[in-house]
Amino acid sequence: MTESEPDTVTQAPAWLELSVECDTEAVEPVSELFARHGYNGGVVIEEPFTQDPDGDNIAVDPSRPVVVRTFVAATDTPPTVVDEIREALWHLGRLRHVGELVLVERREEDWANAWKEHYRVHRIGRRVVVRAPWHDHEPAADEVVVELDPGMAFGTGLHPSTKLCVLGLEDELRPGARVLDVGTGSGVLAIAAVLLGAARVDAVDIEPVAVRTTRENAARNGVADRVAVAEGSVGPGAPFPGTYDLVLANIIARVLVDLTSGLAAAVPPGGTLVLSGIIESREQAVRRAFEDAGLVFDRRTQMEDWVALVYRGPSAPTMSR
Ligand code: SAH
Repeated sequence: MTESEPDTVTQAPAWLELSVECDTEAVEPVSELFARHGYNGGVVIEEPFTQDPDGDNIAVDPSRPVVVRTFVAATDTPPTVVDEIREALWHLGRLRHVGELVLVERREEDWANAWKEHYRVHRIGRRVVVRAPWHDHEPAADEVVVELDPGMAFGTGLHPSTKLCVLGLEDELRPGARVLDVGTGSGVLAIAAVLLGAARVDAVDIEPVAVRTTRENAARNGVADRVAVAEGSVGPGAPFPGTYDLVLANIIARVLVDLTSGLAAAVPPGGTLVLSGIIESREQAVRRAFEDAGLVFDRRTQMEDWVALVYRGPSAPTMSR
């Protein structure tokens, strides 16, 4: 079978799949570029991971490049958009390794399958495994399985920033905790939190597609009664203005800095904040902002170029023994 057999193509292509190979350094700018143009801002980052069978030592395999992929609606996208993207990639390619833009025309059903091909069963924490609905997986004794149909929302669980956040969640979550997930994407962290023992998770995202996808994924995992999802963020007008035992925010550094006061307000003394999505070069800026806001730095974790930071709420009460 060849890729396209002209006599089998009976409809006009509905989607244009754009993909490019690039090095780790280029992933963030290429993803930002694709997110600006891609349908609903959806981007898939496929990093070639290696991982021990027990889930430890997750690492990007540097011998293989990262692939960044998105889809644009073929009929609504003027050809100049593709030229603009190609031009922007060329500029990025002068500083870092960025391959040729690959364009593939997809019909509606191919499009769904293209997402499925790249997304199977993965261990993303010590105990948390994600699987797509079309994959079978027999869970091990202490394994927690999150079934995700990521749709167009970010959060297949495979991004290093998500893995760092899951590891933080596994370490910090106490049974019965109340959790806030800021920038929930596909809901992967919110669902994992409930399956790991949270009493209740409130989840927010500024993207309606993420809110929809998270609701669907929560229902699919049988935790809809413990995950409340709303469109919005933290700070002024926040849909969930309270405080939480544990706050998770896996968003890029610039946005985390913008959200500092809103996030800090959600973490009471004794509470914990896990920040992720921070590219290493922006770590110091994030740390300055959160330390200025009165949060107490606990530790950092890193996977490739991505950093996660764990903070305690302000002036945690001292234990008298
Ligand atoms: N929590 C998921 C998804 C992270 S992607 C995971 O860990 O895999 C980051 C998400 O943050 C995106 O879905 C994006 O829409 C959302 N986001 C971006 N800016 C935001 C803001 N200011 N407030 C809330 N969510 C935001």
